[in-house]
Amino acid sequence: MQPAIAWRKEIMVGSFEQDEIRMEFAGTRKTHGQMLFIEKEVPYLAFRTLLSEPEVRHGCATRLGGVSEGCFASLNLGFFRGDPEEKVRENFCRICDSIGVDVNKVVLPKQVHECNVRRVTEEDFGNGIVRPLPYDSVDAQVTNVRGAVLAVFGADCVPILFYDPAGHAIGTAHAGWRGSIGRIAQKTVETMTREFGTDPKQIKACIGPSICGECYEVDGIVLRRFSEEFPEAVTACGQGKGLLNLWKVNETVLLQAGLLPEHITVSGVCTKCNSDVFFSHRVMGERRGNLACFISLAEEK
Ligand SMILES: [Zn+2]
Repeated sequence: MQPAIAWRKEIMVGSFEQDEIRMEFAGTRKTHGQMLFIEKEVPYLAFRTLLSEPEVRHGCATRLGGVSEGCFASLNLGFFRGDPEEKVRENFCRICDSIGVDVNKVVLPKQVHECNVRRVTEEDFGNGIVRPLPYDSVDAQVTNVRGAVLAVFGADCVPILFYDPAGHAIGTAHAGWRGSIGRIAQKTVETMTREFGTDPKQIKACIGPSICGECYEVDGIVLRRFSEEFPEAVTACGQGKGLLNLWKVNETVLLQAGLLPEHITVSGVCTKCNSDVFFSHRVMGERRGNLACFISLAEEK
């Protein structure tokens, strides 16, 4: 995908190799359309639209700046992929420091490609980091608790961040193909409305780095279901195969949930096109780390 490749070249300051990262971290910000590349020791990407919100802290991790090795190099945020736990924990500390959120208040989801949305409270601080998860199916989280840090994992799957500036509430959703066709984004919006009185017209939604519509080839039942429900997001490519644009699917779902088009941001950054910067399931298979995006409401207004 052209824009993502152009961006990848743009962020490479000096040279870059898989095991030898030489980047200049000058504390400056580089731009790529809707997202900014925040250059720090542990770099991350941030949405312009959320950076302009004083009470929001957020960021999308890359695979750069961590301590993990091999196929997990270097910022793996997945605890159950075979990477030593202490390294994953150190990676969480590093990325949270960089974004400016409290690692002890991170609340991890339990992503199983279902569409359950869970409201997060103070009792959940540290779930999945300092104690085991007390739930077994949570692909989306919402909260209005200041300081709580909602996380959403991915490695090609679509992460979505939500912010309601009127109701002071946030949310995250994980939308692989199952979550996308199950309309998890809409279910997240509905849960924010039910729990916090959120007006969908106020919500700003950001679709994070994930697989692009030119990289995601599908067939069989997946192709058939999306062709029926979201024909605008499918491009046939012969022999019973099609290219599926999950960004477009989720944009459609968000519009149907009542969000305003100008409040929906698509990062345009593909994890597969840029697999040296992001973990990509389609490129690396099961032997890979996990990416995560984070969002939090600042403790002080
Ligand atoms: Zn791509």
